[in-house]
Amino acid sequence: MKTVRNNVQETFRVPKEEIAALLWECRGSVSNAENILEQARQGRCLDLTAAATLLNLDEPHLLDRLYETAREVKERIFGKRIVLFAPLYISNRCVNNCLYCGFRRGNREAERRTLEIPEIVEEARALYDAGYRRVLLVAGEGYGSSIDYLCEAVAAIYRETPIRIVHVNAAPMAEENFVRLKTAGVGVYQCFQETYHRETYDRMHPSGPKRDYDRRLSVMDRARTAGFGDVGMGALFGLYDYRFEVLALIAHARDLEERFGSGPHTVSVPRLQPAAGSALESVPRPVSDEAFKKIVAVFRLAIPYAGVVVSTREGPGLREEVIRIGASQISAGSRTDIGGYSHAAEETGTAQFSLSDGRSLDEMIGAILDAGLEPSLCTACYRSGRTGESFRTAAETGKVRNLCEANALFSFMEYLKDHGTDKTRAAGRGRIAARVAEIKDDAFRREVEKGLDRVARGEEDVHF
Ligand code: SF4
Repeated sequence: MKTVRNNVQETFRVPKEEIAALLWECRGSVSNAENILEQARQGRCLDLTAAATLLNLDEPHLLDRLYETAREVKERIFGKRIVLFAPLYISNRCVNNCLYCGFRRGNREAERRTLEIPEIVEEARALYDAGYRRVLLVAGEGYGSSIDYLCEAVAAIYRETPIRIVHVNAAPMAEENFVRLKTAGVGVYQCFQETYHRETYDRMHPSGPKRDYDRRLSVMDRARTAGFGDVGMGALFGLYDYRFEVLALIAHARDLEERFGSGPHTVSVPRLQPAAGSALESVPRPVSDEAFKKIVAVFRLAIPYAGVVVSTREGPGLREEVIRIGASQISAGSRTDIGGYSHAAEETGTAQFSLSDGRSLDEMIGAILDAGLEPSLCTACYRSGRTGESFRTAAETGKVRNLCEANALFSFMEYLKDHGTDKTRAAGRGRIAARVAEIKDDAFRREVEKGLDRVARGEEDVHF
């Protein structure tokens, strides 16, 4: 079913009644599930009806088919790559009062910090030294998300560290500020709606600028209009019915596709976790592990070209399951406290939420290899113009898979050479050799071998 609009420039509206009707109509409609999965396997993106049907599944054999189909589609588009990154929290000062968040203004217990620019540089350097090549700056709303501060932070990271791409997760802003952020060299702008259900949104956001549901819902329009080809969307699962959130986000993605030529670059699926200083005593609508896996798989089939991002809010076992069934990006070795990387031994008491997976980047890389997948620290696409619509086209025609698999090998070799432990180095080099041997095109294989040789001789940032 398609949302009808009289004016194509009109801001997205959540088709609430349509979603409620679909969730009701698709209950128990398992007879069509096999057919939907077969079409998805052949490359057809799920529409809202198909997504609602799959979200309602609970028969184990159909869920297995769903996960297997999501795995196939993910590997067809992204190969076996799992992209790794780390969030860099720069401020926990916030003017909002989101009930679920430890940074909320009403939390009088929190120790407040906003990093000075040299401290941000120190954090970015610590991440580079651990092996990361991209960082995601994260700030609460207020001074920490002021455009001057953000632009200064981005410029300082590029100027004073070898970090190759900076992404930003910050509060909604005006179009002219997005232009400044883009000009500063930010790759992806990320902002999560938290919940698409307006009544729940109103309850969860009692005060502050974030109380304005429509301002947040329209933020991607301003970012895209200002030139951000790559935007990251998401919802905080556990606030409302997860099936509603998934369908609303898919509808939002379709809206961006229609009006801007491509949907989100990434879809994040954070699940609500306890946070010190939160005003919630429990998760309002808990999401089981099985439901979480469905969320990942349905996004993979509905928005196949988007990276599905899973954070360290989830535990090791579940993370290892979802990277097999559709997730393509994960954070690792994360600290959500302010200044946590350069002062890793100290407990700063400024974390936004509890982490469930405390493994280091190297340990996570080992787990990815054990799962038969391949880690990537590559940042080439953002710097080679493969963003927005051109990234989507490249993903859908399989180009991302070939180019990115080679670039992933280069970035992985660079990691192993400069940062890997002996154990990861041995396993990783063996895997790289095996993957190169599998490349059928002789000319391309020789190019990849040459690139790996350049990395081994000390050249940095080798990529196609
Ligand atoms: S969720 Fe974001 S906006 Fe809300 S209180 Fe936390 S940091 Fe502030």
